[in-house]
Amino acid sequence: MTSIAANLQAVRARIATACLAAGRPAESVQLLAVSKTWPAASVREAVAAGQRAFGENYVQEGAEKALELAGSGLEWHFIGPLQSNKTRLVAENFAWMHSVDRLKVAERLAAQRPPGLAPLQVCIQVNVSGEVSKSGCAPGEAATLARAVATLPNIRLRGLMAIPEPTDDTRLLRGRFAVLRDLRERLNAEGMQLDTLSMGMSHDLEDAIMEGATLVRVGTAIFGERIP
Ligand SMILES: *Cc1c(COP(=O)(O)O)cnc(C)c1O
Repeated sequence: MTSIAANLQAVRARIATACLAAGRPAESVQLLAVSKTWPAASVREAVAAGQRAFGENYVQEGAEKALELAGSGLEWHFIGPLQSNKTRLVAENFAWMHSVDRLKVAERLAAQRPPGLAPLQVCIQVNVSGEVSKSGCAPGEAATLARAVATLPNIRLRGLMAIPEPTDDTRLLRGRFAVLRDLRERLNAEGMQLDTLSMGMSHDLEDAIMEGATLVRVGTAIFGERIP
């Protein structure tokens, strides 16, 4: 029997080991616990083990969980695909949005962010796997989108996010992560201040950290296998 607390400890150890191997301080990588499909009780277990930031990728489910656990001082991140008619739920219930892939969604989030809340922290999702995956903007469109998003009120552009296609080919995978890292370097060279690379999940967080991830999104390794 493993517990969420033990799993969290093991994931933190993996992050620390990967940071050491990459010559990076352990605090340079934030752990986002992806609680999608798991009930509030599972989130509470993780909170008891010291976890504060949680990721959801179904907007209704995430908003409900955030409301149910309101007042616990948690930070909710939306990481899934979003139809533009659902932006209000994200603008009102989340601290972060990782999956902005078109200007229309960013504009709606900016318009709908309640004035009493801190600016919504935003990443642009980039499709680093080409034809294989449909989510995210093309790498060649990311700079234009980033410049436009950076000018919007009530949201703050923090960085880039990617979900490479699953593969056992480590070199290919590292190359996908490197696309995101290079893109951030280019944007920062032209004066942006992007501090976030949201990349790496349960099975590939070490490779992502080697390529510069600052935030890893981990579900299965913390909460267990999701029931489809
Ligand atoms: C589900 C999900 C994760 C977590 O994946 P695991 O393999 O369970 O760690 C990370 N990022 C996104 C966008 C997800 O939808």
